[in-house]
Formats: sequence, C-alpha cells, structure tokens
Amino acid sequence: MKKTVYPNYKTKCGWNALLPEHQEKPQLSEDINSDVVIVGGGYTGLAAAKRWFEIAPDDTITMIDASTNSEGSSGRNSGFLIEIALSNDIKSASLKKLTECNELISSTLIKIKEAISNAALDSQMHRTGVYRVAAGEAGLKSLQKYQEFLKASNLEFKVLNTKELNKRIGTTYYRKGLYNPHCYLVQPAALIRNLTDQLPSAIQYYENTPALECLKSKSHWIIKTPKAIIKTKKVIVANNAFCGKLGIGKHRVATIYTYAAMTEVLNEQTLSSLGTDNNWGVLPTHRLGSTLRRTIDGRLMIRSLYHYEKEENTDLIAKQLRHHLKSRYPNLPELDFHSVWGGATGLTLNGGPLWGEIDKNLFISAGCNGGGVIKGTLFGELLADSANNRPTPNIQQLFGQANWMPLDPFRKIGFKLVSMIERNKGKAEI
Ligand SMILES: Cc1cc2nc3c(=O)[nH]c(=O)nc-3n(C[C@H](O)[C@H](O)[C@H](O)COP(=O)(O)OP(=O)(O)OC[C@H]3O[C@@H](n4cnc5c(N)ncnc54)[C@H](O)[C@@H]3O)c2cc1C
Repeated sequence: MKKTVYPNYKTKCGWNALLPEHQEKPQLSEDINSDVVIVGGGYTGLAAAKRWFEIAPDDTITMIDASTNSEGSSGRNSGFLIEIALSNDIKSASLKKLTECNELISSTLIKIKEAISNAALDSQMHRTGVYRVAAGEAGLKSLQKYQEFLKASNLEFKVLNTKELNKRIGTTYYRKGLYNPHCYLVQPAALIRNLTDQLPSAIQYYENTPALECLKSKSHWIIKTPKAIIKTKKVIVANNAFCGKLGIGKHRVATIYTYAAMTEVLNEQTLSSLGTDNNWGVLPTHRLGSTLRRTIDGRLMIRSLYHYEKEENTDLIAKQLRHHLKSRYPNLPELDFHSVWGGATGLTLNGGPLWGEIDKNLFISAGCNGGGVIKGTLFGELLADSANNRPTPNIQQLFGQANWMPLDPFRKIGFKLVSMIERNKGKAEI
C-alpha cells in the first residue's frame, strides 16, 4: 500500500463548501532556492511566515501546502477559540504558570481578531462563551474538577441544571453544565482564508505542493515536492498531524482522525425548539466526547469519534454522527446533513506540543491535540522568533513537551486499548 505523507481526505470540508469558490494559488513547478521553507499553511505555518517577514523582510520566504489550507484541519475544525488554557491542576504554582499561558493565548486571540477586522469574508467570530456539559457519572466527575479549576482561577462561570440547559440549548440530554464566557466561535474556513489574505505578497505561497521528503545536505535542507525541489537554509515544519510522515517527530506525534457533520439550515419551527440561544457551542467533559454547535445561520454541527492513522468510511461516520445528534435531539425531524467530513489532529502522549529546533536549522511546531487554532498561531509566531535567534517565552515549561511514544504496532495497540477503556467510561458523553 502507498504511504500517505500528506492529507488526502475522503470528502470536502463542510465549512469551506459554504463559502465562495477558493482561488487556488499556483503549484510549485520549478526548482527554487529559499532562505526558509514553511511546510504547511495552516494557522501555525501562516503565523510563522507572517512573523518571519516582520523580522527579516529581505529573506526569501516560501510556504507550501499539500492542498489548500482551508481544506486542511485549519478549515475543518469546529471553530472554538478558547481564551483560557485548561488545567485540572489547581495548585498555586501551576496557577501562576496558567496565568502566563492565558496572557499569551488571549493576546494571540486579540491579534487574530484585529487581523480579520476588515476581511473580505465574514469569519462569524463572536464571543459566545462555551457550555461544558456532562451526561454520565464520568462526565459529572470531570465537570466538578473543571468547576474547581474555574473557581480557583477566579474565572467567571455559571452552573446550569438540565432544565436550564434545555431552556438555552434545547436538549435534556445533559445532567449538568457550566457556562463560561471565555470563548469565541468562528467559521473556521472563513477565518483561515481571511488570515491567508493578510500574508505579505513577498511571501511565496504554493498550494497543492506537498513536501514528499525533507533531506539534510551539508549546508542546506532539500525539500522534494512532486514537480520541483527547494533548497533552503532553514525549515519550519508546520504540517502538524503529518510531520511524522516526513520522518520528523514520528516518536512524538500520532495522526488521529476525528469527524464532523453539519445539517442543512433548519426551518423556523425546528429552530424555535432549540432553546433561546441562537449561536452556541458545547464541549464535552470527556476527551472522547462529542462537540456540538448551533451556527448563527441556523444549522447544527456535531463533531465526534476518533480513528488512529486512517480515515473511516464516510457513510459509516454519517450514520454514527446522526445517531449521536439524534440522542441529544430526539424530536428533530429526519436529519439531512449538508456535509460530513474528517480531519486529522496531531496527538501527543501527554498533550504537550512538539516545539523547537529538532535538528540543525529544522524547526517544528506540531501536536495540536485537537485544539490548535490559537495555540498554533502562537507557537508558529514564536517558532519564527526562535529560528531568528529572538528571545521567546519558555514554551516547554509553560505548555509542556510531547513525550516519546513507541511506533507501531505497539502504538496502535496502545491507542486501541486506551480508546476502548475510555469509550466505555465516557459512553454517555459521546
Ligand atoms: C474536526 C476537528 C475539529 C477541531 N476543532 C477545533 C476547535 O474547535 N478549536 C481548535 O482550536 N482546534 C480544533 N481542532 C484542531 C485544529 O484544527 C488544529 O489544531 C489546527 O488546525 C492546527 O493548525 P496547524 O497549522 O498546526 O495544522 P493544520 O491546520 O493541520 O495545518 C497543516 C497544514 O499542512 C498541510 N500539510 C500536511 N502535510 C503536508 C506536507 N507533507 N507538505 C505540505 N503541506 C502539508 C496540510 O494540508 C495543512 O493545511 C480541530 C480539528 C479537527 C480535525
């Protein structure tokens, strides 16, 4: 079987399909030299490119993406931009660290907001807040921990029971919820397209140009793409879940697929049964749980399920997502999904990122663990600083660092085993 070195999704991204057609950028077709090559044009790659240009505007900066970035995970995600770092550890030492992380995260969020303020597309970026919810015992336990963390961090929140949740989001599925205002919701494909439009024109951005190999020569790095070779002094690896496929960080980051489905716009009668809020997001308390959204244009979106290294059959996924949505909204009419799609996330064993210079002049930021719109932007920018010998905060100390993992078959067995146990524990949250 042919090795997958870059994403090749089974279906198009649903968010992207709601936008006007994307004008593709050229594919790289002749050999070039560059001062830096950025592999991957998602949030991490874009932020690195933009920052590099601020620091060294005379450098040749080349960015390549295997497809188009709004068809990558940067467009495929659920669009939650959380303003605060999460922690279940509420000791005072970690609270200090958390405050520092939160400052970095919220300043990044503000930069994103400013960058798109006059953008061509509406990113639908609104500070809606977020519901964290629990339906079963395991969920309730972790919701309790989360409540303690919010309290200890002096963060605003509201506890909601089933009735109150039902009033707001139209479902009696959950036994308890916590609402906190520290979250924005966005249309992710519009967001990444808008951010791409902000790139200085001096940055060469090639789409449909996957890196097939990244090789070290005596004084340079060589990036092989299908039609051309790039010779470069420095490389920023920003292809997240797929870094290991280039032989970079494969002991730290695994490729995990998760899935989303979005309904057509629901009719007025159905919408009026969905509670008083008209633009909301629900995050699960269990790590294998389902995410829900009601979009501002009147659709429901669900994200759930995980598969190791291989995207599952779309019909099967659609059936399971429909089931999970129906269990929350049994009175919904027969559901027509507008779109169903998978997306890859870079998973690390302990949730810490893989960040920094991992070989001479080879820099990486990967391992988003399913939450990297803001963090990717932050880490990408700081990676460009670091590669240009600028001071940066101590990322490893603040956000941790990805632990070593064995490769297959041990990793696959481990993933399957842990998922089985966790799926069982958090059944009600899925
Ligand atoms: C279904 C889903 C829901 C999610 N929900 C959220 C959410 O609500 N909030 C949140 O913060 N995060 C969420 N995430 C995670 C989020 O999408 C990622 O953290 C974010 O996209 C990371 O940005 P990135 O630039 O590091 O990587 P990516 O967005 O993965 O970008 C990497 C880019 O590299 C390209 N690439 C890959 N291989 C190669 C190669 N060999 N050569 C060249 N290019 C290559 C890809 O095409 C891609 O465009 C979700 C992810 C998924 C899949």
